[in-house]
Amino acid sequence: MLGVTILGNNSAIPAHGRHPTAQIISTQDDLLLFDCGEGTQIQILNYKIRRSRINHIFISHLHGDHYFGLIGLLSSFALLNRVQPLHVYGPAALQGLLDQQFQLSEIHIPFPYHFHAIEKDGLLLETPNYIVSCFSTKHRIECRGFIIRQKKRNRKILKNRADSRDIPFNLYALLQEGKDVTLENGTVIKNEEVTIASPPPKSYAFTADTLFDPSLIEQIQGVDLLYHEATYPHALADKASARFHSTTKEAAEIAKRAGVKKLLIGHFSAKFDDTSAFEEEAKEVFPYSEAAIEGTTYLV
Ligand SMILES: [Zn+2]
Ligand SMILES: [Zn+2]
Repeated sequence: MLGVTILGNNSAIPAHGRHPTAQIISTQDDLLLFDCGEGTQIQILNYKIRRSRINHIFISHLHGDHYFGLIGLLSSFALLNRVQPLHVYGPAALQGLLDQQFQLSEIHIPFPYHFHAIEKDGLLLETPNYIVSCFSTKHRIECRGFIIRQKKRNRKILKNRADSRDIPFNLYALLQEGKDVTLENGTVIKNEEVTIASPPPKSYAFTADTLFDPSLIEQIQGVDLLYHEATYPHALADKASARFHSTTKEAAEIAKRAGVKKLLIGHFSAKFDDTSAFEEEAKEVFPYSEAAIEGTTYLV
């Protein structure tokens, strides 16, 4: 499975019960955290996320609304005597910031802790089941978005049918790879007789903070779910570009041109209480748009 739980959908200043950016990505193996705005660990508690399952944290950029929650979360991991390794990926300068905070607060990290400085676009993490990579966005300071792509999975064996054809266990690996097999008595078993295809691999892209930037389209082409910031309604397009942010219609335009299946918008300006108008505007350009809601898990 691949799911995205929104912990924060607001921009720089918390308002109207909304929090700064943080998202939990659920995979079949573990949890990932994309950005860690202030209050993230409280939101993790509010939505009963199993924090011990978070193995990888990715920070898009060093505006506070995307990482001010990190030192708190790491401190709690230390106090809770976490044992499993934790990997943090972010701008190189973040490492020094965290180290200084650990040092000044005399925080001892009892678990294996690995900081990975993001210095270029491309692959960040590869596991047997998924790949995470990053791409640059156009923002006031260096900023990167992230994409998680599931790997293609092997075919599934239909146990009843395999048993009825007396297929020995040692031929299963070949069947899972999609090959036909020959039994000892010479009978050829066609692959499709005893297997079915696994669900197609899914993908999710998070564009962090960005200006309207058509060069992103190539990076996020065809993803199943896209989260694109829409800090302002489209009437404030000038303000959005002056502040290196996007509007509802700009986010939707990127989604439409990239051929994504679904768009989530967020990073809403604190000036606006009701986000339904944001959703309506985005839908005018791209019908499969939704305003992200905190605490909601979107299955990819
Ligand atoms: Zn931001
Ligand atoms: Zn920013």
